Amino acid sequence: AAVDSAPAIVIGSGYGGAVAALRLGQAGIRTLVLEMGRLWNTPGPDGKIFCSTAAPDQRSMWFRTRTEAPLATFLWLDVVNKDITAYPGALDRVHYANMSVYVGRGVGGGSLVNGGMAVTPLQSYFTEQFPTVDASEMYGTYFPRARSMLGVNTVDPTWFESTEWYQFTRTSRKAAANTGLKTTFVPNVYDFGYMQREAAGTATKSALGQEVIYGNNYGKRSLDKTYLASALGTGNVTINTLEKVKAIGRASDGSWTLTADRIDNTGAVVETKQYSCTYLFLGGGSLGTTELLVRARDTGALPALNSSVGAGWGTNGNTMLGRANHIWDTTGANQSTMPVMGIDDWANTDNPVFAEIAPLPIGFETWVSLYLAITKNPERASFTYDSSTGAVKLGWSAAQSAVSVAMAKKLFDRINSANATIYRYDLFGSSNKVFADDFCYHPLGGCVLGKATDNYGRVKGYSKLYVTDGSLVPGSIGVNPFVTITALAERTMARVLVEDTAP
Ligand code: FAD
Repeated sequence: AAVDSAPAIVIGSGYGGAVAALRLGQAGIRTLVLEMGRLWNTPGPDGKIFCSTAAPDQRSMWFRTRTEAPLATFLWLDVVNKDITAYPGALDRVHYANMSVYVGRGVGGGSLVNGGMAVTPLQSYFTEQFPTVDASEMYGTYFPRARSMLGVNTVDPTWFESTEWYQFTRTSRKAAANTGLKTTFVPNVYDFGYMQREAAGTATKSALGQEVIYGNNYGKRSLDKTYLASALGTGNVTINTLEKVKAIGRASDGSWTLTADRIDNTGAVVETKQYSCTYLFLGGGSLGTTELLVRARDTGALPALNSSVGAGWGTNGNTMLGRANHIWDTTGANQSTMPVMGIDDWANTDNPVFAEIAPLPIGFETWVSLYLAITKNPERASFTYDSSTGAVKLGWSAAQSAVSVAMAKKLFDRINSANATIYRYDLFGSSNKVFADDFCYHPLGGCVLGKATDNYGRVKGYSKLYVTDGSLVPGSIGVNPFVTITALAERTMARVLVEDTAP
């Protein structure tokens, strides 16, 4: 087959890939982005690009015949999931033993499906996780750059206090206050001006129309509207979609070689393509990038990759849970899908937890307060290559999830006791399951900065090979991770474009 070559190739178009593509394009370097998901720009028969959580169809999930929503049940009834046609939908749930991981698929990666919460970590915890990174440079330059490029904004506090759409948040805030816990507003990339117009009835509803995990049709500043639009605007960047890179290697002249499967809407491989490039940027996310590197090392394609490749993976301590409110503490039938507040108990050194107050936007009163707890779980796992099947497996155990659950339970037992409330037992599938301990939204690590790579994301053992995504983060960052991933990618690109690509 013919080989397509480009000076630079970026694998994946999530946060890490989008930053790399923009900065390469601006530097005048012709860049090809390979993305396994679709470009989400074409309306379906209903006139919408994405489907809502209330009425999922083929666009919802990545090659599934039934949706696999994080909340499997409500009152133990399987009302949440629906049969669908297999299609390259926007949300994937990747199953490993004991842990499944939600990721976005498409041009924009996780930005298409996530809750938009744009949180900068505490500087002290950032430094704990990244002792070799100059924190003053991060907090002075790269975090502000990332926030401004991503379009981070905050909810108007006056509107927040009065709107029915955030009653669920105010109810959870009250329960936290009764416990003596601190809550804090959380910034978001969803345009809150647009959301207020949705509430006023002058704009088409998206966050107020049950859209989020299968994509937002309006209001959200996903990467296709920010970094990637600018990248394409440089004239130097091309994005190929529905192309999954399955192997990377190095030619004898030092250039990078890639093999990618191009698929159609049924998932059938219609073409296997060969690529080559001088500079290779890995932005496939914690799972995608780590899998490619582990396989390359253990099949002998890139034998100089070190033993830290595949290691240091964690869930950011994710645990989801629901509390049952008293009958007078309503959460409201109408709930915005964009969270704007968290319970911040991270300073509690005994049991650090940052818990997002999450919506349950199903259109009727539930009396459920839902949370995504981010706990300081120190457990880490590794990916290994199974030579008999060619699969890359994650060695996460149920006992490792139990550590997150115990930490979340410690905090929410306090909240329940102060409010005389109990947990909800009907949300996560099997009866009596209170804590969702088998999935996460925040996969982090696998190619940890300073271990598998140098201090700037250059992969050790090779030159002109870079990691720019969530696999650099050592398993935990204490808050929702995309601002950190974006800022680290900005830092890598600033360095690489000065030191590595100068003619
Ligand atoms: P990703 O964004 O995952 O991008 C990787 C891209 O590479 C994907 O598009 C993928 O399809 C593509 N890819 C992977 N492998 C290959 C391959 N071999 N060939 C070609 N393409 C490939 N974080 C927050 O900060 N705030 C939130 O509110 C928040 N909410 C979330 C809600 C949900 C439902 C989910 C799933 C995640 C949420 N996250 C949130 C997490 C956040 O989205 C991720 O941390 C972030 O997207 C990771 O960025 P990344 O660049 O590492 O990879």
